[in-house]
Amino acid sequence: MSKPIVAIVGRPNVGKSTFFNYLAGRRISIIDDTPGVTRDRIYAESEWRGRKFTIIDTGGIEPNTDDYIKQQMIQQAHIAIDMAHVIIMLVDVKTGLTALDEEVANILRKADKPVLLAVNKVDNPGQPPADIYEFYNLGMGEIYPISSIHGLGIGELLDAVYEHFPSAEELSEDEDAIKVAVIGRPNVGKSSIINRILGEERVIVSDIPGTTRDAIDTHFEVNGKRYVFIDTAGIRRQSRVDDEIEKYSVLRSWAAVDRADVCLIMLDARDGVTEQDTRIAGYAHEQGKASIIVVNKWDLVEKQTGTLEEYRKKVGQDLEYMNYAPIVFVSAKTGQRVHRLFELIDYVFDQASLRIQTGVLNDVLNEAIAMVQPPSDKGKRLKIYYMTQTGIRPPSFVLFVNDAELMHYSYERYLKNTLRSNFGFEGTPIWFTVREKG
Ligand code: GDP
Ligand code: GDP
Repeated sequence: MSKPIVAIVGRPNVGKSTFFNYLAGRRISIIDDTPGVTRDRIYAESEWRGRKFTIIDTGGIEPNTDDYIKQQMIQQAHIAIDMAHVIIMLVDVKTGLTALDEEVANILRKADKPVLLAVNKVDNPGQPPADIYEFYNLGMGEIYPISSIHGLGIGELLDAVYEHFPSAEELSEDEDAIKVAVIGRPNVGKSSIINRILGEERVIVSDIPGTTRDAIDTHFEVNGKRYVFIDTAGIRRQSRVDDEIEKYSVLRSWAAVDRADVCLIMLDARDGVTEQDTRIAGYAHEQGKASIIVVNKWDLVEKQTGTLEEYRKKVGQDLEYMNYAPIVFVSAKTGQRVHRLFELIDYVFDQASLRIQTGVLNDVLNEAIAMVQPPSDKGKRLKIYYMTQTGIRPPSFVLFVNDAELMHYSYERYLKNTLRSNFGFEGTPIWFTVREKG
């Protein structure tokens, strides 16, 4: 089930990052036993009254020279309108109302999205400064005085945000369709590959009317099976100006990954694995998503015997933490091997959905323990009593042990590799939770 997205918009220095970190921090302390918590400043998860939501900080794209600020603010407002279910506009009581605040408010007011106005730096809510009332002039209805530094007033604000969340029904996804996110740097060929796939004869693109979600997603069928390309609105439109802003494309990719069952991580064959590719792939990995590494523009690479295998090895090394992901070499331009993607998508989806019976699992575990002794420290040896699978997509397991401290990263990796060699789990991360049992 996907989560509501809340965007924060505001001028430089009004306290966006302080506010953001406050929300993200609460979340981090709540879920610290979940693997792969991402602590990025511009994108994080939070929770209020039992509902999880994603927060994005749209600010801080360019250096804050005066020329840029206005342009940037307009950009932020559009990102928020584009991506969020609820927008929080942050203003600063210490500087008061500015012309720029008014301009941004004008843009946000015209959009068909709920906007809440939070007045930050009201550090003493018992005695709010008289200036606070001037913010009513923005015509955004109620104002919410908060202090991000002291965590004051935020409960009231989040209560109001919560009221505007779309219902679970509105957010619910088509459960029978495999959701695919096509992610990667600008210009690697995401729109080309999507358009190439949708243009194939055996692909039937369906028009599903209705919700906002469907306006950004593309639903289609291949051989009677249903798929959704997630958030293709920004991708299929060629040469979208916004895509030049790297941070925006990263925000979009992350939101798409969150909703996806399978990620196609696209690389440009001419560039190999770049640092930004590593970041994007890393997010899919941390979120526990099944992934396929798609090396595009293979038509542009000069080939000799062994080129492909060498390239495969190199990508495997550069993205070592994803060594479970199949690598496929395609050309959106010529169509080479593009049809292979569906076999792979189905395959990794099924692999990520595997359930192993506890009995079989523990036979394999006991054999693994007999082959390589668990680690010990100061004369105390790790004992693993048994393990059980607790979930799929990604396959998740709980290991019951005598002392969780004794579990080593390398031993965990050994056990994961053993599971892979016995059961497959190709294309998907595996998650372990280690729990002590007296
Ligand atoms: P951003 O540029 O909008 O992300 O703003 P920052 O979060 O970096 O904050 C700008 C400055 O305002 C920093 O010096 C913060 O410590 C300060 N600040 C943020 N929130 C509050 C607050 O609630 N009260 C006070 N007094 N200062 C704050
Ligand atoms: P996006 O920004 O990731 O959506 O990338 P685009 O699909 O817009 O592609 C960027 C550029 O690369 C365009 O000029 C495409 O024509 C070109 N391109 C995409 N795929 C291929 C390919 O497989 N081979 C070649 N030669 N060019 C490609």
